[in-house]
Amino acid sequence: MYIFRQASYNTCVDTTRLREVFTFFVQGLNHLLWPAVCINCRQSICETDKDLCPKCWAEIQSCTKADYYCPRCGKDATRYGMVEGVCPDCQGREFNFDQIARSGVYDQALRTIILSFKKGRTELDSTLGSLADSVLQGADFYSDIEFFVPVPLHWSRRLVRGYNQSWVLAKRLKHPTAKISTDLVRIRRTRSQPTMASPAARAKNVAGAFAVRRGHDFAGRQICLVDDIKTTGATLNECAKTLKEAGALKVFALVSAVAGQKP
Ligand SMILES: [Zn+2]
Ligand SMILES: [Zn+2]
Repeated sequence: MYIFRQASYNTCVDTTRLREVFTFFVQGLNHLLWPAVCINCRQSICETDKDLCPKCWAEIQSCTKADYYCPRCGKDATRYGMVEGVCPDCQGREFNFDQIARSGVYDQALRTIILSFKKGRTELDSTLGSLADSVLQGADFYSDIEFFVPVPLHWSRRLVRGYNQSWVLAKRLKHPTAKISTDLVRIRRTRSQPTMASPAARAKNVAGAFAVRRGHDFAGRQICLVDDIKTTGATLNECAKTLKEAGALKVFALVSAVAGQKP
């Protein structure tokens, strides 16, 4: 009986060992045939590196490390430098959105990932989405949100690109009750914002560019706009103005990155 048990135990150990060797072999072959690469710089990475190489992760961490930023413009700030809840740059400025949350600053790997995301690499939504989702979960306004509203593209631009990157990002956000609404639309094709330098020119470029669809449900609601990049905030401001004119109670903003950290 003892001998039988010993033999049975040995067979069990052998089977487990065989399975481990087989798994190791398959994983090795898989890595050889389809080596994992960094989604940003395409360097070879280990299976445990989670899509980015250590260098790109370090860059992402550097872009997202600030523990405090101005809740109106989203730029790096210090708690002690705030006056009435806003940074010195925001003093006296008018904002139509009530508060902003951001994943990080528009720099290094975060910048290249966002640019690639806009140029067809929609698979980057998981990285940008999880970064945005983690700041959203910690935002003061998280539980107030009733609708996520992606900043809309003009239909002709969406037709060329094939998707609205803000909508793809919004789909990655987790919330127990808030829904995505596409009832904010861009009714006028605007020139590409980065070609214009001054905040006044940017504001003029987007003035009157948005409208809400008939039958919208924005009246009395608390809305979170979703966008990839905030530069001067002109686009978010114009979207928030349109939503508030439609009766929205509060408008927040969530962006992947805030550009223009230096004045
Ligand atoms: Zn990399
Ligand atoms: Zn500010």
